[in-house]
Amino acid sequence: MIGRASILTYGCQMNEADSSDIAVALRDAGYSLTASWEAADLVVMNTCAIREKAEDRIKGTLGQLRAVRARRPWLVVGVMGCMAAQSSEYLEQEADFVIPPVQAARLREVLAGLPPPPGLGEEAGDLPPLQMEQETDFKRYLPIIRGCNYRCTFCVVPNTRGPEANEPAELLLAETERMSEAGVLEITLLGQTVNAYQHGDWDFARLLDTMARRHPHVAFRFLTSHPRDFTPQVIEAMASNANVMPYLHLPLQSGSDSVLRRMKRLYTMAQYESIVSAVRDAVPDVALSTDVICGFPGETEEDFQLTLDAMRRLRYDSAFMFYYSERPGTPAVKLGEKVPIAARKERLARLIELQKSIQLEVNQREVDREQRCLVERVSKRDPEIMLARTPGNKSLLLRAPQATIGSWQRVQVQRADSFTLYGERVGA
Ligand code: SF4
Repeated sequence: MIGRASILTYGCQMNEADSSDIAVALRDAGYSLTASWEAADLVVMNTCAIREKAEDRIKGTLGQLRAVRARRPWLVVGVMGCMAAQSSEYLEQEADFVIPPVQAARLREVLAGLPPPPGLGEEAGDLPPLQMEQETDFKRYLPIIRGCNYRCTFCVVPNTRGPEANEPAELLLAETERMSEAGVLEITLLGQTVNAYQHGDWDFARLLDTMARRHPHVAFRFLTSHPRDFTPQVIEAMASNANVMPYLHLPLQSGSDSVLRRMKRLYTMAQYESIVSAVRDAVPDVALSTDVICGFPGETEEDFQLTLDAMRRLRYDSAFMFYYSERPGTPAVKLGEKVPIAARKERLARLIELQKSIQLEVNQREVDREQRCLVERVSKRDPEIMLARTPGNKSLLLRAPQATIGSWQRVQVQRADSFTLYGERVGA
């Protein structure tokens, strides 16, 4: 080993999958991975630029790393991920290398050129090893598309990750085969617009259906779908394969057609709702989640009321809700009629309050039902309580031995709150 390296991952599942590749590159270069970034010789920050808040957090950590560098002057700091794609004097000053997502392969070159840190590996073994989400041997992410061809006016992704690049289907099928043989229990297909997948004769529905049929013992999920690319064939693949989990993340963003137009989302509320109806008809137990932005430029109180109405009608199982955050370089920056920050925050609070009450009702319906859940890890508060995930992607807490981690268990749901189900194990 030539030194200790740490990876700090921010943002979405795509970044988690990318961090897994970063980990392999670091290990190949001779680094051991540690969770203790304050004591590492090399820290790679895999960043997110989707909202100002995320960037502020990352800048805060860079400030802390500056203080660490005063004690350990050989410390190397690298910035990757979406923030690295935006030219920034600040990052150039704070980091030793900056690699945007489209050039991620450059990391190996950069690592090869770094001088080895002093005191090689003296404290090896003293530091907690890095456990990465993607590294569980039973649950994996598989990116099938990188980048995005849409131009939603609020979003930095087309700038930071570039246009869509689809992985060849043969490679993806071979990788799925390898994961299945290695005992992976759940594979999540990833893409910013995962259902836009197209490579030769292969579209997303065919890929999903083929994978699910070839590996009936593997559970499949997919993230994130764009309503405009949602075809009846995808619904058919979900309905006809019991191992495609009944869970759909379908970003709504706004319930107002005029806001959707200004966001350039390219669908109307009516089109969105007809997809949801079709999915719910074909997969009656499907759990639905979404993303919503409130306070987008020009959003009136009436527009916002349409979003609240949509949430009441659609009754999501969960929702990621944010107030609009202005991102440099995005078209929405140039739109007039900015909603004051205080109003954005106030709308968000109302939205969260409503969704919380809907989620409570939706989750209460799960009580007394039996679910087959994948046990993922020990809960944060009690070593005898495990955190599992239901087919609908809900967190479920149950009392079970740690040996159940990485296995499917049948669980009777006993109670539920807005965010969590609580259950008792009734069998394997
Ligand atoms: S579909 Fe829109 S929101 Fe999603 S990544 Fe592409 S540009 Fe961003």
